[in-house]
Amino acid sequence: STTPCKTILASKVSASFRDQIHKEIQERKVQPKLVGFLANDDPAAKKYAEWTAKTCAETGCGFELRKVDKQDLEQKITEANEEKEVNGIMVYYPVFGGKQDAYLQNCVSELKDVEGLCHKFVHNVYHNVRYMDEEETMKCIIPCTPLAIVKILEYIGVYNTVINYGNRLYGRTITVVNRSEIVGRPLAAMLANDGAKVYSVDVNGIQVFTRGSGIKLKAHKVEDIDATVEEVVGLSDVVITGVPTSNYKLPTKYLRDGVVAINFSSSKNFEDDVKSKASIFVPSVGKVTVAMLERNLLRLTDYQNDIREK
Ligand code: NAD
Repeated sequence: STTPCKTILASKVSASFRDQIHKEIQERKVQPKLVGFLANDDPAAKKYAEWTAKTCAETGCGFELRKVDKQDLEQKITEANEEKEVNGIMVYYPVFGGKQDAYLQNCVSELKDVEGLCHKFVHNVYHNVRYMDEEETMKCIIPCTPLAIVKILEYIGVYNTVINYGNRLYGRTITVVNRSEIVGRPLAAMLANDGAKVYSVDVNGIQVFTRGSGIKLKAHKVEDIDATVEEVVGLSDVVITGVPTSNYKLPTKYLRDGVVAINFSSSKNFEDDVKSKASIFVPSVGKVTVAMLERNLLRLTDYQNDIREK
């Protein structure tokens, strides 16, 4: 049966970014180069690496996939940090998982961290710091998956452009099911910094991220709340899922009529009938993430050149 629900594919959202990146690369004398490290046999990581290669080929970015043993990864990252012709570095996680992966994220040189996962960049997101310098000439690098989701929300009009920049989610209620340090927590923080009320759900409980009543705070605050997933999802205009297991399904019956449903997990986190309730459904975001990686790559290449010129 047909529903009014509109499915928005990541390839469609990413098209204008890919065109823009392609144009910018053509205008450059030197082609920026991205190196991706693959140190696991995770099929999702392999797929992500293939998309990166494909998108780089389309836009004209240099891309080299380096398959390495995970025990050599830190050394290989250190070497790539020193290579002048390498402008950006990324690693396909998980490698070891947990804290060791967090350690490796911080081994990548800040000026080459296209994923935006080093401590400084995530710290800036949490504290709503938008520039790297006092003169406000160098915009911060933002973790690429949360950034991709923001770009999708802009594309589909969840960001209200009548409202001033920085407050454009004021009035929106959003649930994010995932609170990892890579995606869910920085995403909840960014959305709340932009004015939304965000319910952040993980296996252990629910928190609410907001800039307070009348969005008076400069950056978001976080409170633990005693609520159920059903309750917070029922209050939400937008529901974003990222649970990395195929047996997790968010029940369609929890969703508000006309909800915007976005899944960034490699598994399908919504039930098959999600379109019977959603106004807009975004089944995956990976292709926008890759576009954001390249956007970060161009920005970092400029910062590297500025520093070399000084
Ligand atoms: P992770 O394992 O670090 O985090 C999973 C999160 O989900 C945790 O916060 C956990 O508490 C929560 N969770 C697990 N089970 C839950 C449940 N039953 N109810 C509520 N919350 C639950 O994983 P990650 O690195 O954040 O990745 C998550 C997914 O997103 C993976 O499938 C990954 O492949 C995908 N991913 C996609 C992109 C992209 O660009 N498309 C980028 C990164 C990750």
